[in-house]
Amino acid sequence: RELRCEVVLMAEEKYETHQYDVIVIGAGGAGLRAAVEASAQGVKTALVCKSLLGKAHTVMAEGGIAAAMGNVYPEDNWKVHFRDTMRGGKLLNNCRMAQIHAQEAPDRVLELEEWGALFDRTKEGLILQRDFGGHRYARLAHVGDRTGLEMIRTLQQHAVHKGIDVYMECNLQRLLTDGGKIAGAFGYWRESGKFILFKCKAVVLATGGGGKAWKVTSNSWEYTGDGVTMAADVGADLMDMEFMQFHPTGMVWPPSVRGILVTEGVRGDGGTLKNAKGERFMFNYIPEFFKAETAETEKEADAWYEDKKNRRTPDLLPRDEVARAINSEVKAGRGTEHGGVFLDIASRRPADYIQRRLPSMYHQFKELADVDITKDAMEVGPTCHYAMGGVRVDADTTAATVPGLFAAGEVAAGLHGANRLGGNSLSDLLVFGRRAGLYAAEYCKSLNGSLTVNNDQVNAFARVMLAPFESKGNENPYTIHADLQECMQDLVGIIRVESELKKALEIIQQLKQRTRNVKIEGNRQYNPGWHLALDLHSLLGFSEAATLAAIERKESRGGHTRDDYPNTDAKFAKVNVVVRKKNGEFALSQEPLPEMPDELKALLEEKK
Ligand code: FAD
Repeated sequence: RELRCEVVLMAEEKYETHQYDVIVIGAGGAGLRAAVEASAQGVKTALVCKSLLGKAHTVMAEGGIAAAMGNVYPEDNWKVHFRDTMRGGKLLNNCRMAQIHAQEAPDRVLELEEWGALFDRTKEGLILQRDFGGHRYARLAHVGDRTGLEMIRTLQQHAVHKGIDVYMECNLQRLLTDGGKIAGAFGYWRESGKFILFKCKAVVLATGGGGKAWKVTSNSWEYTGDGVTMAADVGADLMDMEFMQFHPTGMVWPPSVRGILVTEGVRGDGGTLKNAKGERFMFNYIPEFFKAETAETEKEADAWYEDKKNRRTPDLLPRDEVARAINSEVKAGRGTEHGGVFLDIASRRPADYIQRRLPSMYHQFKELADVDITKDAMEVGPTCHYAMGGVRVDADTTAATVPGLFAAGEVAAGLHGANRLGGNSLSDLLVFGRRAGLYAAEYCKSLNGSLTVNNDQVNAFARVMLAPFESKGNENPYTIHADLQECMQDLVGIIRVESELKKALEIIQQLKQRTRNVKIEGNRQYNPGWHLALDLHSLLGFSEAATLAAIERKESRGGHTRDDYPNTDAKFAKVNVVVRKKNGEFALSQEPLPEMPDELKALLEEKK
């Protein structure tokens, strides 16, 4: 009775309500940068995040921000960065996004420095840049292996000084529309469980990815695909959902830490991959596409580590290639006792170098696995890491296909194509976060007429959200989540096959049915079981879209490997798989990539 009573009150608008021009959902790098920009444009802006401010994935980023500043290699420039990004993405990237990203990233890094970020330095006092997979030159601006922390600290301080209103531990669940245009967002405070309604003209989604749908993952509890599902629920297009990045090096032992990331910076700084027989197996897995610039012998690769003049070591091939190679080694029985391979930096670099360059990795292994990485090799294996797919956006403005909706960062699709290069996410956040804030503000200023929030729509959402308390069923949200993770890990993992993908889809449908019978005990105050029950909607939405798209793309490319279609297929080379909701159900289409201008085509063909 108490709950029903509250719904009646809500219909009379008795819930907490706020009015803004722009609501930015998500306070990682993309959200913070978007909020700073929108606010600088003079529109009333709020920043909303599910956890405490500063606790986004961005803070966990280790290796660095990719930007062709040319501080270590003067020959580096945006054109080479553009080419590397496109090749890493297997040419499925939105070329305009890749161009903007490569051109604007250096300015965004310098801007961060102006705002107070303290990067590691070259001897000449310039921002130091390190090597990462798939980048032709050392290009990642970094702060040891804690780059994300410095980035978030700087952006957060800047945002707070701008006086932007911040709503922490506030989980937004649904977007509200009026006549097809964004009009607000609805959710709840995690602490009190009370509902909160934002009325606004524009929403910037910056909610990150959905890696929590997989069992072995580097993602933390927040990454349940909320932005993707909220966007799909109001009819926005999703794109490239089949491309999920499995980072080659996650921890594999002990089981409690399986999936925690081991930065690519270890390999950038000299670490090499070895199988259980002590062989540097990556030389056996160099694809034709990368042969021209990859060392084919240990001697050649070692020389690269010393003077960087030679062809790069295959340990630093793009992540999809390395993850598949590790997978194959383990499958062939050459893996470690715990189903991984070895990553060894101790035999190449002295202890003080490792501790200075990789302090977090040193502590992570010492404290979680009792391994001293200055003496012994790490045991590593692939871990679900990054969603290349997400909300389809306009390359210049980040506008989604629903008016008033913008998306930036991991939640948006396009920049990375079929596979993201390491370091390109942090630069993505800065470049497209700024653009999202800018164009959302412009949109607000150009909007004529007023927007109305539909109370019936809000009340319906509130009823759905409270249903688990009144349920007669006995399903447990944790069990459903665990079953979903098992399903995605086993059937929609690194290597995929049609029959398993179809089986996954069936399981997802069954899990959707089971969520209707979730029963939550207790009350709404800080009730994690209830929070997870609500997140299941997005976890399942994200997983369903990813699985459908994976069935549709009948070829192997980047972060999507099909055992039944092991090669790339020219038919799919020029199309994105788009998923959108029609009458509550996902529908698929294949849509042509935007035409690449001749001057960009020429860059891809340049050898130097
Ligand atoms: P996030 O930083 O993920 O932030 C998402 C925000 O959305 C959070 O504030 C969250 O609370 C909020 N949110 C989510 N759902 C809701 C909701 N329903 N309501 C309200 N708020 C919500 N990339 C690199 O380029 N270089 C690296 O060195 C690097 N290292 C990494 C290391 C690790 C361990 C991990 C996990 C990732 C790493 N990445 C790296 C990837 C990169 O960190 C992420 O892709 C990037 O930080 C995502 O940023 P974002 O702004 O899109 O979202």
